[in-house]
Amino acid sequence: MTTTSRPAVSRADNPLAFAPPEIDEEDVEAVVEVLRSGWITTGPRTQEFERRMAERVGVRHALAVNSATAALHLALDAIGLRPEDEVIVPTLTFTASAEVVRYFDATPVLVDVDPVTLCLDPEAVAAAITPRTRAIMAVHLGGHAAPMDELRELAGRHGLVVIEDAAHGFPGAYRGRPIGTLGDLAAYSFYATKTITTAEGGMLLTDNDAYEDRARVMCLHGMSRDSWNRYGASGSWRYDVVAPGFKYNMTDMAAALGLSQLAKAERMLSRRMEVARRYSAAFKSRPELQPPADLPHVQHSWHLYILRLHPENLRIGRDRFVEELQTRGIGTSVHFIPLHTFTYYRQRYGFQDGMFPVAMAQFERMLSLPIYSKMSDADVDDVIDAVGDIVERHRA
Ligand SMILES: *Cc1c(COP(=O)(O)O)cnc(C)c1O
Repeated sequence: MTTTSRPAVSRADNPLAFAPPEIDEEDVEAVVEVLRSGWITTGPRTQEFERRMAERVGVRHALAVNSATAALHLALDAIGLRPEDEVIVPTLTFTASAEVVRYFDATPVLVDVDPVTLCLDPEAVAAAITPRTRAIMAVHLGGHAAPMDELRELAGRHGLVVIEDAAHGFPGAYRGRPIGTLGDLAAYSFYATKTITTAEGGMLLTDNDAYEDRARVMCLHGMSRDSWNRYGASGSWRYDVVAPGFKYNMTDMAAALGLSQLAKAERMLSRRMEVARRYSAAFKSRPELQPPADLPHVQHSWHLYILRLHPENLRIGRDRFVEELQTRGIGTSVHFIPLHTFTYYRQRYGFQDGMFPVAMAQFERMLSLPIYSKMSDADVDDVIDAVGDIVERHRA
C-alpha cells in the first residue's frame, strides 16, 4: 500500500462495497412469511417462482435449484454427457462453467474469446469442434449476450447442444429474446452478488420436455415424485427411486426471496443501466479507458461493468489501478482469471503460457467497477472521480 499515491478524492473511511444485494422490507416480509407458514423448504413458493420465471422469459420449463452450478450439472446430465465427450467452454469464465464437465469425467475444451464482447469467439469455437464435441457452453460474460446466432448455427451444423451459462444474463436479451431462452438449456444464478438473488440459488430453463423430466427427477435424489407431493396434505408416503440423483432442490425461503426480487428485476435493471450510462459517458472520451461493449442487438443485463485500460496510455497496470481504487475506498473485482492459468487446469490439460492470447490480453487490462441498484448518484460520482483522479495522476 505504500507504493500507491495519496488520493485527492477519498471515501477510504466509508468504502463503497463492490456488489451488495438490494434487500428491502418486502423481501424480508416474504421470507418471514414462509418461516411462519410451517412449510419452509421446496413447496408452493418454489412452484410459484418457477411458474413466474417461465412466464416471464417465455420458456416451457423452469426448475428452481440451489445454485447455477447445480443447474449446469443437471443440464449436462440431462443431455447424457459421457466421459469421452468434449464440451467447449470459454477460458474467460468462472470455474463452475468448466468444473461441471469434469463431474462426468468429460473434457472441457477451453477456447479463446472475442475481444469486443469477451464472450466465445465463434471462429475459435469452430476450430475446436471435433467428433467428440457434444455441447457448447455459452457464457454471457457480465451480462452481455454471447453471439448466439453464430453459436447456434455451428451447433446445428455439427449436431451439438447449446447450454447457456446465463449466471450473469437475467434480465438481459439478445435480438429481442431473453438470455436464458437462446440455447437448448440455460442456467440462471441467484447467488448473493447476481442480478436478482435468493442468497444461494439457480434455475434451469429449457423448452425440452425430456430434459426437464430428467432434471426434475435428478434434482431430488432421483426420486420419481418430489417432496411436495410426498409431504403435502394430499401426498402419499410412497415414492420410487429411478436413479442415484442429487440434492439440488430450492427452499421455499429462497424462492420467496426470489419471487420478491423478480418483481423488482426491471426496476433494478433500469438503475444499473443508468449507472452504466453515466460511467460510459464519463470514460469514453478518456484515451486511457475503454468502456464495455453495448451492442445495439443486445440488452445488457449489467451484472458487471467491465472497464478496460489502455496500458499504452498509462504508467500503471491493472493490478496497481485496482489498488489505487481500493485506497480511495472503491470496491472492485476482476472477472475472470482465465481458467487455463489455474493450477488444476494447467496440470490436468498442460496449458502453456501464450495460449488464448485474446483472453489473456483482455484479462490483463480489465477490472469490474461497482454496479448495483442501491448505488446513489453520489456513489457513482465517487467512482467516476476516483477513476478520473487515478488516470490523471498516472497517464503516460
Ligand atoms: C456465479 C457464476 C456461476 C455459478 O453460480 P452459482 O449460483 O454460485 O452456482 C456460474 N457461472 C458463472 C459465469 C458465474 O459467474
